[in-house]
Amino acid sequence: MAFPMPVRQLFIDGEWREPIKKNRIPIINPSTEEIIGDIPAATAEDVEVAVVAARKAFKKNKGRDWAATSGAHRARYLRAIAAKITERKDHFVKLETLDSGKPFDEAVLDIDDVASCFEYFAGQAEKLDAKQKAPVTLPMDRFKSHVLRQPIGVVGLISPWNYPLLMATWKIAPALAAGCTAVLKPSELASVTCLEFGDVCNEVGLPPGVLNILTGLGPDAGAPIVSHPDIDKVAFTGSSATGSKIMASAAQLVKPVTLELGGKSPIIMFEDIDIDTAVEWTIFGVFWTNGQICSATSRLLVHESIATEFVDRMVKWTKNIKISDPFEEGCRLGPVISKGQYDKIMNFISTAKSEGATILCGGSRPEHLKKGYFIEPTIVTDISTSMQIWKEEVFGPVICVKTFSTEDEAIELANDTQYGLAAAVFSKDLERCERVTKALEVGAVWVNCSQPCFVQAPWGGIKRSGFGRELGEWGIENYLNIKQVTSDISGEQWGWYKSP
Ligand code: NAD
Repeated sequence: MAFPMPVRQLFIDGEWREPIKKNRIPIINPSTEEIIGDIPAATAEDVEVAVVAARKAFKKNKGRDWAATSGAHRARYLRAIAAKITERKDHFVKLETLDSGKPFDEAVLDIDDVASCFEYFAGQAEKLDAKQKAPVTLPMDRFKSHVLRQPIGVVGLISPWNYPLLMATWKIAPALAAGCTAVLKPSELASVTCLEFGDVCNEVGLPPGVLNILTGLGPDAGAPIVSHPDIDKVAFTGSSATGSKIMASAAQLVKPVTLELGGKSPIIMFEDIDIDTAVEWTIFGVFWTNGQICSATSRLLVHESIATEFVDRMVKWTKNIKISDPFEEGCRLGPVISKGQYDKIMNFISTAKSEGATILCGGSRPEHLKKGYFIEPTIVTDISTSMQIWKEEVFGPVICVKTFSTEDEAIELANDTQYGLAAAVFSKDLERCERVTKALEVGAVWVNCSQPCFVQAPWGGIKRSGFGRELGEWGIENYLNIKQVTSDISGEQWGWYKSP
């Protein structure tokens, strides 16, 4: 589908501003490889202006006073944003599909989730009012103590391209609900819906500077946000390599960070499952979002007694996936995001072959699609645990298959990774599922399913998948400082020193 991309500038202090160095980055349609527009490229100079605007919006003594508003007040803006996103859903869905290459039907779900996330954190903002001054029980009657939850300040939000507006929303909604103001830096590979979001902010009358949106390259626009002394916290979603750089930079100022990073998540199939049901979840768990899911369950561990039948069925289901332009009806797999990502995935596949793995299906560009960054959904077997494809995150439509014979072996293989984002376990024996769930070293476990994600439930990883939790009541805590207030209510002398 062809339609013009909106031409946007940086969104700073409620206004559209040309980047100071006037540079722009082309937008490439991943389905056609054509340049279809461009986005502004911010640099450290623009970051400076945005941080000043965000600080002014945050505190009264610097200007406006978002920090001092009640949760109920902020909730009204978040609800208005949710309503506006729903009203303009069609526009956002089309832009997200075109810019990211994800199937149209998936973009519909993403934009619905964006609206739900703002709605949910409106509720959390209201609850925050009730949680203020929560009493702490002390062992001495002469003292009383309570806890204040106060916004951390100006926060830097850095997001990836696989769910462009949704991943940004997971940060914007709780940050604003908490009373923080923010500078958002979406990924240069898919920023269009995040920039459009600036319009939504103005349409609902969000005070200028509460949210600033800077597009640009990671080192030019992201790094200066992280190192800026007036950014009080950084929330990042992206690769472990970038996460590690961000942590090192933030450490210079002892700045808090939350990191939502990559994964290499296992999916375990015991022998008592319904094969077709489990196969469908398996392919969904790895090929959804064109295989570019942080929590992709991309290492299939299947009990040896059902392995042949399971893999046979999986190949049949996989060959039936509709790969097409993401706007085509029924599309279930579009292109990966960029030429760089396409080459990286193809390299993973050729290295796997050279290391002795077998490509059971896929592994190439689909014959009927001559242009675009399309890769067939790929199943790889004959895997050894020393292979690159077993150990590293591919971030594309590729799944590795390995068999196991005992529960202990399945757990050992599942945990044989530096990552710890998510895992899935399938069995009719729910006690076994519970045992395995407890043994898995991850932040999220799906039982008899893979990938369903709800705004009410916490999200985040352990090990090299990062730390901190987004979503749910945990999500808003990321943006709050906890302040203990203790008073002596006796009016008496303390009596430690002798009175002179
Ligand atoms: P990436 O690390 O390349 O980029 C993420 C963001 O960081 C982008 O906005 C980029 O411009 C910015 N960036 C790059 N270098 C930077 C620097 N030096 N300083 C500051 N910012 C910088 O990741 P990506 O390719 O956009 O996203 C894919 C990765 O994200 C995968 O590893 C995936 O697993 C992960 N991811 C994780 C989650 C999660 O919830 N855990 C969700 C989505 C994606």
